[in-house]
Formats: sequence, C-alpha cells, structure tokens
Amino acid sequence: MPVNKDMRILIVDDFAAMRGIIRNILNQLQLDNIVEASDGAAAWEILKKDEIDFIISDWNMPGMTGIELLRKVRNNEKYSDIPFLMVTAEAQQKNILEAAQAKVSEYIIKPFKAETLTQKIKKIFG
Ligand SMILES: [Mg+2]
Repeated sequence: MPVNKDMRILIVDDFAAMRGIIRNILNQLQLDNIVEASDGAAAWEILKKDEIDFIISDWNMPGMTGIELLRKVRNNEKYSDIPFLMVTAEAQQKNILEAAQAKVSEYIIKPFKAETLTQKIKKIFG
C-alpha cells in the first residue's frame, strides 16, 4: 500500500523526546495525523478506540514493552495487519530475530538518521 498522508500513526516510546524526534521526521513527510503513547498498555487502549494505520514503537518501556505490544497486535485479528515498525536500542541479533518471529514489519536501531526512518516507511508502504 502507498504512503497515505492521512494515515493515523501511533508513536509509542517512554521517552517523550524520542516521540518528538519521530513526530518531526513524520511531519517532514507531510504525515501529521499522529497520536502518542508512553508504553504498550497505553498504546493498546488507543488501538481499541482509535483507527490506527501504522504503529512505530520502542522496545524497552515500563509496563507493557514493545515486543509484548507487537505480539498482542499480531495475535488479534482486528489489528494483526497493521504495519509495525520497531525503533529500538536493542541491537543484538537475538532481539532482531525475536521481533522478526513476532512478525515485525521493519526494525530500526537507535540512534538512527531521519533518512533511515523515511526509507523504512517507504519500504513498508512503497
Ligand atoms: Mg524506551
């Protein structure tokens, strides 16, 4: 599916500054229909009452982590097709493998360049 400028994007990260960085990069791509959550549990609540088209999530967060959120999303037929981009400092092969097994759409390792995020979005929706 192509990048839809109106798609509603859920950014999940416990670090507000990181949510802001991601939001700014998305804004540069004219993507500004954005909602934020600070952990997986808050993200899940948003998913239940909002129409989310794309999830960008951190891994390590207090409460529900990003990998737990990913599994919950993929195991629920209502949300299982939502593209899910993991943006995390977890760079170990075992983490990447774990996310791949949980059917993550794409994976970005922090710190990252704006260009990397743009490329991954194009890869997902291109
Ligand atoms: Mg974190």
